[in-house]
Amino acid sequence: MIDLHTHSTASDGTDSPTDLVRKAQAAGVTTLAITDHDTMSGWAEATSEAQRIGISLVRGTEVSASYEFRSVHILSYLHDPALPGLSQLLERTRQARLERLIAMTDLLSRDFPITWPDVLAQTSGDTTVGRPHIADALVAAGVVPNRDAAFAELISPRGNYYVRYEAASAPDVVAAITASGGVPVVAHPFAATRGRGLTDEAINELVDAGLAGLEVWHREMDQAARTRALELTQRFGLLATGSSDYHGIGKANALGEHWTSPEVLTEIANRGALPVL
Ligand code: AMP
Ligand code: FE
Ligand code: FE
Ligand code: ZN
Repeated sequence: MIDLHTHSTASDGTDSPTDLVRKAQAAGVTTLAITDHDTMSGWAEATSEAQRIGISLVRGTEVSASYEFRSVHILSYLHDPALPGLSQLLERTRQARLERLIAMTDLLSRDFPITWPDVLAQTSGDTTVGRPHIADALVAAGVVPNRDAAFAELISPRGNYYVRYEAASAPDVVAAITASGGVPVVAHPFAATRGRGLTDEAINELVDAGLAGLEVWHREMDQAARTRALELTQRFGLLATGSSDYHGIGKANALGEHWTSPEVLTEIANRGALPVL
């Protein structure tokens, strides 16, 4: 089974890269992609454990982007961090995420017993920070019972404590991924939970920038979203992937709950700058 979208403690997952790789194998995954938000910092640890236990690993990143005020996530597979383009863009996004999370924590600290050090205590060294780390600090402070409860209200975009952050435009992200030898695939493109995401015109623009695929089978893509995404992959000659978007505890997504075909994996491997390990 091939699962091409998962998170570790390098971003907002709750398993270390080592534990992620072990749990994936135990769940029957034979090829796993580690795709933390805006970072490659989990790659080295995931690589050594994957090679030790014998599971194939696709090194990837879920890159934050924006399109006309919408937040868009673009998966990049097998890009070479040494090539110019993507690494510099990710550095800027991580800085914007950090400033944004400090601002949200400031607002929350007026009404709840959490401080910035409390939020940082929920991260490990080289983590890309995000709202889940505020959620974890709120759980630790006894304000909410779990991540879901925090997302339902306090840290939701409709809540009083939400601050947005600037990410590069989606066409620029696709171009940067391509320049770095990566294979760009839009994550959960028409998720109902994300305001139905992109228009057909937007997808067309991303195809012109070098887009390779759409994530069709994903928990947050309902039947209508999958049908529309599949139709677009046929119209534009794009790859169709499926993945779990596993984050560990705090989110229901289970390893291997959706998967990608071996043919599509081969195509990604052929196009990427780095090998599948
Ligand atoms: P942010 O990156 O700061 O905008 O926060 C959104 C991230 O939180 C997404 O990557 C979600 O996958 C993640 N997340 C983790 N747990 C939850 C949850 N229980 N509900 C909603 N989002 C969650
Ligand atoms: Fe996430
Ligand atoms: Fe995402
Ligand atoms: Zn994700």
